[in-house]
Amino acid sequence: MDGRSALAPIADKVERGERLTRDDALALFHSNDLLTIGRLADLANRRRNGDRVCFAANQHINPTNVCVLRNTCVFCSFARMPQEDGAYTRSLDEVFAEADAARDNPTREFHIVGGLHPKLRLAYYVDMFRGLKARHPDVHIKALTAVEIAHLARIEQLSVTDVLIALQDAGVTSLPGGGAEVFSPAARATIADKKLTGEEWLAVHRAAHRLGLPSNCTMLYGHVETMADRVDHLLALRALQDETGGFLTYIPLAYHPDHNELGEALGRTGTATSGFDDLKNIAVGRLVLDNIPHVKTHWPMVTPFISQVALTFGCDDLEGTVVFERVYHEAGAGTPMWLSYDQIVGLIRGAGKEPVERDSLYQTVRTFEDWVPGQRSARPEGPEGPTFAIAHRRRAQARGGRKLPVLSGVVDGAE
Ligand code: SF4
Repeated sequence: MDGRSALAPIADKVERGERLTRDDALALFHSNDLLTIGRLADLANRRRNGDRVCFAANQHINPTNVCVLRNTCVFCSFARMPQEDGAYTRSLDEVFAEADAARDNPTREFHIVGGLHPKLRLAYYVDMFRGLKARHPDVHIKALTAVEIAHLARIEQLSVTDVLIALQDAGVTSLPGGGAEVFSPAARATIADKKLTGEEWLAVHRAAHRLGLPSNCTMLYGHVETMADRVDHLLALRALQDETGGFLTYIPLAYHPDHNELGEALGRTGTATSGFDDLKNIAVGRLVLDNIPHVKTHWPMVTPFISQVALTFGCDDLEGTVVFERVYHEAGAGTPMWLSYDQIVGLIRGAGKEPVERDSLYQTVRTFEDWVPGQRSARPEGPEGPTFAIAHRRRAQARGGRKLPVLSGVVDGAE
């Protein structure tokens, strides 16, 4: 059976609007018939979203890179120990100044995530969000990953729900994804992931959804996970969405191997995921997650060019202006640190789609029927100053240079 006919029963299901099974999802990930997978995902997306592709005029802010898990999360290049070169922790005034530095952009969303600082308490974040809301009342705050929320609950000796209520009261309107890379216990053991288990991650998001706080979901791919791990991760997200309906968008996250232990152990430094796998992850995500409204492509990880192509592979949401992307550039992403508002609109238009600026909750802010290419409506330059600079880790390895329980034969067709 050639690749196309192998996918024929799945194509029939997608055309009839039926839910795909675990075996269907596995067959899609194992198939190299990328164009058929893309066509089916495009069909599923168009049914939901037509030709609309949304983006947020957003700004990423990372208040600290100090993290108690710096020596255990072997796939992370962002975190530092408190005394390590490049460690930083912003005061609230510095965070407010960073937000103000991008005032010329029509920012609608602050995307705020960072390390698990041993001493920053809940009050630091509550004051930050209140302060940002007071200064920028029209800007949504999407903040803190599940692992940051669980960390705050632990150090405050509060329940996760109590922390979420405090964040909601301070102005947080949604949660980002991230905070658990892939749910598979085997993959987590292999990469020594000490963050949340899949169940713990899902529990934080379930608690948020129960409070009416929507969230986003992610999966880090292209490290040591198997195709079955990917499928089980997606099915766990789909099951929670069936229960709560609280996920807004799914974002596949491409693993980057520079300046982290895992990349060194895998011998992958200087490489990243392939465009083929990036597009396949978008498309299979769209097909399996039939109950999540949006699928987003993250151009800082996969390049603006792959993201533009992804818009015809099942994707209806493009990462926004960002202003300064730190986390993936620490790990070797070779993409721009930011894109201007007009570049984002141009990328979407260039794919033959209809750009829609949205807020964090996917409400329409602006459409672009009258938009003229080249007529700049917003600041085209990136931000300046010492806040907007990166010095890569000198030492990828954790203290003590552990031997990772890695890694022969574990990458099951991930590329
Ligand atoms: S992945 Fe997150 S929790 Fe792990 S070291 Fe990096 S910042 Fe800390």
